[in-house]
Amino acid sequence: MTAVTFAGARVVDPASHRDDVVNVTVDDGIVTDVGADVIGRRIDAGGLVLAPGFVDLHVHLREPGREDAETVASGTAAAAVGGFTAVCPMANTDPVADHAGVVEQVLRLARDAAHCDVFPVGAVTRGLAGDELAEMGAMAALGVRCFSDDGMPVRSPQVMRRALEYARTWDAIICNHAEESALTGGAQMNEGQLSTLLGLAGWPREAEEVMVARDLVLAGGLGARLHVPHVSTAGAVDLIRVAKARAVRVTAEAAPHHFTLTEERATTYDPVYKVNPPLRGKEDVEAVRNGLADGTIDAIATDHAPHPPEQKEQEWMHAPPGMLGLETSLAVTLTELVEGGVLTLSQAIAALSTNPARSRDITGHGGPIQPGAPANLVLFDPAQRWTVDARGLQSRSRNTPYTGMTLQGKVVHTLLRGRFTCRDGALA
Ligand SMILES: [Zn+2]
Repeated sequence: MTAVTFAGARVVDPASHRDDVVNVTVDDGIVTDVGADVIGRRIDAGGLVLAPGFVDLHVHLREPGREDAETVASGTAAAAVGGFTAVCPMANTDPVADHAGVVEQVLRLARDAAHCDVFPVGAVTRGLAGDELAEMGAMAALGVRCFSDDGMPVRSPQVMRRALEYARTWDAIICNHAEESALTGGAQMNEGQLSTLLGLAGWPREAEEVMVARDLVLAGGLGARLHVPHVSTAGAVDLIRVAKARAVRVTAEAAPHHFTLTEERATTYDPVYKVNPPLRGKEDVEAVRNGLADGTIDAIATDHAPHPPEQKEQEWMHAPPGMLGLETSLAVTLTELVEGGVLTLSQAIAALSTNPARSRDITGHGGPIQPGAPANLVLFDPAQRWTVDARGLQSRSRNTPYTGMTLQGKVVHTLLRGRFTCRDGALA
């Protein structure tokens, strides 16, 4: 490889507290110079932001089992175009990633596709059934750092406690889908006046909050690491804030739709807005935004959940929950949070990259951008406005709630160890 210098970009790297206009040179897969003159080929990056590639803690790549919805190749292609250099696919595939074989398969598929690095999440329990622990040790031996039955809660406090205790052996993380399912039978949307008005069964905020509270108590008692996925209620944000003040080892993520869209969308009965946990009220959206601003919520994670049209485009009641996220996450974050004055650009990049990488012990991603570091980078135009068109996405599915919306901020280049995975806004 020959050296390439990105000239004139605004380099925003939370890991080194850098935010200034400097040249960045990449050679042979690594960053070789920051702030030097142009070395090798010059690529004009004036007007662009150069940042560590994004890291998504929560995606569903659907392979093995639902290749009609997404594959490891198509999902990681969507990730590359979205500016991601690492994603963590959840274990709720078919078969479930509850043993080493499926984890190895996903790793192999990701290596073959080579669009971004993949760090599979292993299941907590066998078949996501909530009873017996999965083969966590065998998966940990393959490098799995986080275990989750996402989509399904670990209902039994005894199983959850045992999982936390076992994971602590490798200082690994348990991520529990926070839903007390005794309170959400048949739930279709957020519980409240609107659900009554629309005649849809409600998913009460308390169902999330009692589970988060339980998990914080269990993790705190053991000194074990907990990650709370897709925080959606004001009460859950408060619980995590208090736990962090008490030094519980907890990290948390929020999905773009939970800091952008409200339950009002359900009035359309368009199932593209059906998601689990559901879109909540204005005050919850506000609380999630505040949680990101004050660091209670560490990371923005998409919960990218592809579903093929024949499944998703049914009556609301019958449609599966879930939304796409990988190709719109940056633009939604910039439009809603940075333009909206909630986060600085550096805080936004920390939430998209540095914090998620650190929270999961992923090295080589999330910065710092310095000589010797792997060149896992994104360059984006923070000012470019574009209108989301589901037909133009890399994902195999089309269930984005942002269709037709004009957003600000577009990925131009993504580099994985110095190689373009996205170039000039297109899959490389
Ligand atoms: Zn979940």
